[in-house]
Amino acid sequence: MLQPEDLFEAQGSSRFFVPGSQLGLCKMNAMTVSNAQPAPVEVRPSNFIRDIIVDDLKTNKYAGRVQTRFPPEPNGYLHIGHAKAICLDFGLADEFSGHTNLRFDDTNPSKEETEYVDSIMEDVKWLGFHWDGLFYASDYFEQLYEWAVQLIKAGKAYVDDLSADEIREYRGTLTKPGKDSPYRNRSVEENLDLFTRMKAGEFPDGTRTLRAKIDMASPNLNMRDPVMYRILHASHHRTGDKWCIYPMYDYAHGQSDSLEKITHSMCTLEFEDHRPLYNWFIQQLGIFPSQQIEFDRLNLTYTLLSKRKLLQLVQEGHVSGWDDPRMPTLSGIRRRGYTPEAIRNFCGAIGVSKTNGSIELAMLEHFLREDLNKRAPRAMAVLRPLKVVIDNYPEGQVEEMDAVNNPEDASAGTRKVPFSRVLYIEQDDFREDPPKHYFRLSPGREVRLRYAYFATCKNVVKDDQGKVIEIHCTYDPATRGGNNPPDGRKVKATIHWVSAAHAVDAEARLYDNLFNKEDPSQVEEGKDFTSNLNPNSLEVLTHCKLEPSLAAAAAGARYQFERLGYFCADTDSKPGKPVFNRTVALKDTWAKIEKGQREKG
Ligand code: ATP
Ligand code: MG
Repeated sequence: MLQPEDLFEAQGSSRFFVPGSQLGLCKMNAMTVSNAQPAPVEVRPSNFIRDIIVDDLKTNKYAGRVQTRFPPEPNGYLHIGHAKAICLDFGLADEFSGHTNLRFDDTNPSKEETEYVDSIMEDVKWLGFHWDGLFYASDYFEQLYEWAVQLIKAGKAYVDDLSADEIREYRGTLTKPGKDSPYRNRSVEENLDLFTRMKAGEFPDGTRTLRAKIDMASPNLNMRDPVMYRILHASHHRTGDKWCIYPMYDYAHGQSDSLEKITHSMCTLEFEDHRPLYNWFIQQLGIFPSQQIEFDRLNLTYTLLSKRKLLQLVQEGHVSGWDDPRMPTLSGIRRRGYTPEAIRNFCGAIGVSKTNGSIELAMLEHFLREDLNKRAPRAMAVLRPLKVVIDNYPEGQVEEMDAVNNPEDASAGTRKVPFSRVLYIEQDDFREDPPKHYFRLSPGREVRLRYAYFATCKNVVKDDQGKVIEIHCTYDPATRGGNNPPDGRKVKATIHWVSAAHAVDAEARLYDNLFNKEDPSQVEEGKDFTSNLNPNSLEVLTHCKLEPSLAAAAAGARYQFERLGYFCADTDSKPGKPVFNRTVALKDTWAKIEKGQREKG
């Protein structure tokens, strides 16, 4: 039975947005946990992308169709930023009975691998989404080639002999118009011949490109004769050695959308300036006009969301792999114990906007706690054990105490936890010299042992250095189950424990932020983002003591270790030797920030 004076914190009781819509109503502006000022919550009346879709449905723009796609490049594992895009692409289509394709934008053979393709599919499914069509940009290589030929024939594309550096030089800058390449006015015949020979493998890498013939003076740099094809003698993960010319992303993306008859093509803001180019190709080719809509990229404090940088962390061994539980990848946070529900709720709450900002990591953790609080069974675990002997408890006696599995969910029932004469408690739960407001165990002090008995500390045993290594207590048999005794005596603290004879030895991995800078990409001259790595992001505790029910915890099983946090059994667990990741500690900084806000505002 829960006592009011328990130290057990009530978790995750607050929320700040009304759930129920796929996409939330709130948007957090860039703010920091460390700043004294709480982050302002800006309530949005709606989601502008949804508004566009609703309008298009009203005007019957696409004959009532909503077709979206999620287009990852298979050059790394998906991260929490991608989750935002996935929730948007799949969520909006679902909301309007539409369809969503998963399309791998695999136009760059040198960086792409099937390992990434497989992990991306696994991650999308894990998040709870199902694609309708499964496509690859490489499915369209033949079609894209034919369209390139069509553009050459129409005088809209030419083969250029400038090198990559020269092309860059000729391109000009935002303030200076570009210069025409000396090869810009080649005849259609010559262009066709050269392009055919490029495809046939006659020329070495980098010697020629195919470029769109648009406008070297355009204020939009993307329109200054962008490269459509480059020569690259590289094996492709799907087409093998069939091709030695590969389309650029900007040439492939819009047409891939068009081929799949995508109605609403959502992407992040950095592609806004590319939209005129995508539209140009679509117009020149006279093909289905997909509509691109840009939204803000997710940035999280203390986190980097860039596959390139995450790859560097993996390659340089700063983390154990893409699924290191400190990584913001979906495989990493899954292994750490995040739930898909928490991620989806978070993505719904942050919503979308037209300006890039940064979201508090604490907000993501808030949604995680909120979900786990409802669902994670409770268990008792002692991470840093201190031995306690109950002197007046009969030797050899074992009692099975009833423990509540989840106070938030009556249907979760109860379990038996063995109690005996020798126990472990947290070192933190004892102070020889207790400070003010410290109500846990100390000499002469009585506390409640959760679900068991009241116990009073009688004396301590110290080692040669004077460190307390064992505590001796007496218990009150009249308090069985942890209930108040008939004399009405009360205690100010409840602590958890594990019976020594029954304890399961385990390893616990405690994580802190991977970076110690709020914006890890901000670095001093001459350094890179790895200089912002937090050297204390991982703490490994061995010989933790768990209640016996945890011995068989399957990898991925999530628990709340009472008073400590949420934990998830790691894939490194062996039978009888579990390894647990701390998913998140109990303390909810976000709830605090939010409370501060409410009080202020
Ligand atoms: P990265 O910089 O991490 O490599 P990317 O944009 O190159 O990211 P893609 O594989 O091209 O990664 O992304 C697939 C989709 O996910 C795109 O539509 C992209 O706009 C979106 N996306 C990627 N990162 C984020 C993010 N941080 N927030 C929201 N959407 C994102
Ligand atoms: Mg990319």
